[in-house]
Formats: sequence, C-alpha cells, structure tokens
Amino acid sequence: MSNRTEIRQGAASALKRLQAKGIRSVYLEGVSAPGSPLVEAIAPAALPTPPGTMGSAADLAALAKTVSVCTRCALHQNRTQTVFGVGNPNAKLLFIGEAPGADEDAKGEPFVGRAGQLLNKIIVAMGMKREEVYIANVLKCRPPQNRDPLPSEVECCEEYLRAQIALIQPKYICALGRIAAHWLLKTDAPLGAMRSGQYRYEGIPVVVTYHPAALLRNPAFKAPCWEDMKKLMVLLKDA
Ligand code: URA
Repeated sequence: MSNRTEIRQGAASALKRLQAKGIRSVYLEGVSAPGSPLVEAIAPAALPTPPGTMGSAADLAALAKTVSVCTRCALHQNRTQTVFGVGNPNAKLLFIGEAPGADEDAKGEPFVGRAGQLLNKIIVAMGMKREEVYIANVLKCRPPQNRDPLPSEVECCEEYLRAQIALIQPKYICALGRIAAHWLLKTDAPLGAMRSGQYRYEGIPVVVTYHPAALLRNPAFKAPCWEDMKKLMVLLKDA
C-alpha cells in the first residue's frame, strides 16, 4: 500500500470516528481547508449523511460510485462490473447474501438469477415487493466459479457493507446463508444452529435463514426457511 493510500485511509477512519460522535465538519489547519482535494476525495465515502436522515439515497449512490472503481482485491480483475445493492434506501428489511454470481455480474444487480427469482417469490409471499426491501451482498464482485469468498476478500469489502447498513438503518436484517451470517455475527457456528438464535448486528436484530441457492439444491430447506420468514413477518408488523 502506498503512503498516500495509507494516509487517506487513516484520515477516512478518523473522520468516521468523529462523525460517529456527531461532528459534521473539520478544519485541519495547515493541512487542508474545506474544499481541498484531500477532504473532497475522501468525503463522499467517509462522511455520508447521518443514518436515518434524508439524503441516504444520494449517499448510497455516492458510495456505489466509490465501489464501482474499487481495486482493493484481485476480484476486480475479472468482474464485468461491481454489484452494489438494490432497493429502498430506507428499507425496514435488509437481505444480505454472499456474492454476485454470473447473472449478477452481467447485470450489476444482486439476486437476479435463479436464486434471485426464488428470493423474489419469498419476498412476495411475505406480502412485500422487491422494491420495498434492500438487497445487498457481503462481496461486491463475483468470485471465480462462484467459489466461497476468501477471508481477505471479505475484509477488503466489509467497509462497504458496513456503510450500506449504516446508511439504510434497517429495522431488521435477514442473513441469507452461512457467509452472510458468519460475517454479521462473527461466528462460525453451523447455519442450522444459528437459525434458532437471537442475534443483533450493531443493535439491529438479525434473522438467519438458508440461502435461496441452498433451497434450490435442497427443497427440504424450504419449509424451515418459510418458518424463519414467518418469524420475520411478525417482527416487521411492529417495525
Ligand atoms: N447469490 C448471492 O449470494 N448473491 C447474489 O446476488 C446472487 C446469488
């Protein structure tokens, strides 16, 4: 990593810590002035509008732009495009999957292939529309042959998902499958065991269920997945 990149990343982290404390602007005497290239360069990703306020759509769009040129890990070399996320920027429910597949890489939108069509059916069966929820993945680029994300790839990408969640501020998160559940909950427990647990990510309740692709491979998972969705529907009624 170059010195300049290190300095920018350090500054971005420091600004985020200040933002978490409610500080909205900084003046660095002798280093930068408001509007200087350094501040401008890091501002879009580092200083989004506080979560839950107007502007999260614009902030998500700015973040998506940053992600679209990301070269943090080797996955950028083979992608057609990044797959940032889709849906309502103020969604009450956020679904998190694993990583884009071939269809998503081609279209630039998560869950548009066979697993996505099943996810759409699940959303409709829950009494909602796809446009009402938000859908994102742990990784924003497709791993070759749809292999599991490497820990180093997840590490490179996680700042983006963290920022997405902070901007959307969903009332509930649904982890679709092992990769999303393990990232959100920092555990390597088996998925089946996690389904019955009560968890939170940064205070947001998390419901863990099977990945739609797992339902396609093993239809016996459909009934337990529907149980999980019913649980979520009850919770969402009061959200
Ligand atoms: N599987 C995922 O986890 N995400 C997608 O976007 C598509 C398939």
